[in-house]
Amino acid sequence: MDKEDFIKRIVVGPLAVNCYLIGCGKTGEAAVIDPGDDADEIAAAVRDAGVRPLYIINTHGHPDHVSANADLKNEFGLEIVAHGLDSTLMQSGSDLLSLMGVRVIPSPPPDVTLEHGDTFWVGDIRLEVIHTPGHTEGGVCLYWREGRILFTGDTLFAGGIGRTDFPGGSMRELERSIREKLYSLPDDTVVLPGHGENSTIGSEKSGNAFVRM
Ligand SMILES: [Zn+2]
Ligand SMILES: [Zn+2]
Repeated sequence: MDKEDFIKRIVVGPLAVNCYLIGCGKTGEAAVIDPGDDADEIAAAVRDAGVRPLYIINTHGHPDHVSANADLKNEFGLEIVAHGLDSTLMQSGSDLLSLMGVRVIPSPPPDVTLEHGDTFWVGDIRLEVIHTPGHTEGGVCLYWREGRILFTGDTLFAGGIGRTDFPGGSMRELERSIREKLYSLPDDTVVLPGHGENSTIGSEKSGNAFVRM
């Protein structure tokens, strides 16, 4: 019998970023989403899970989400996957975030660049790429339709939204991204954000004070 597909959350770094390990039960292939810090802890989780990691997927290029890219790429030979519009950002780091205590380790460039509407496979798990600019220009959400899961990075949180005061941010764009591209998904879609607790599209549509339906 096949093992189950799984998602494991590892909370990393001083800003408590949710790094996710997503694994396909059938093929044993896996990806690490947003390894922002604590590479050793993430590597241990990968080994514990007994999976074959192939990719790092970054929801966006801020250092709190990419600073363990280099170490994990070296250790496991992973390909880095991100939207091309955040390529410069992820390789350059951000002084603002280093002031906030974030360890800023520039990422290698992406090996694979994503576009809105792309499909990305982790084993038999199909992730749809939703480009959601606003927090950064190249921010993406990853939608696992069959699993009813949406990885939202710093675009949408439980009861909150991402900051738009960093370079490349835009409140108008962020609102449009959330309203048109995320709130149109089924209400029972589980939101797995880049910081904080899980939510659902339905509860954000009815209760998020920042972006109303
Ligand atoms: Zn961010
Ligand atoms: Zn963040």
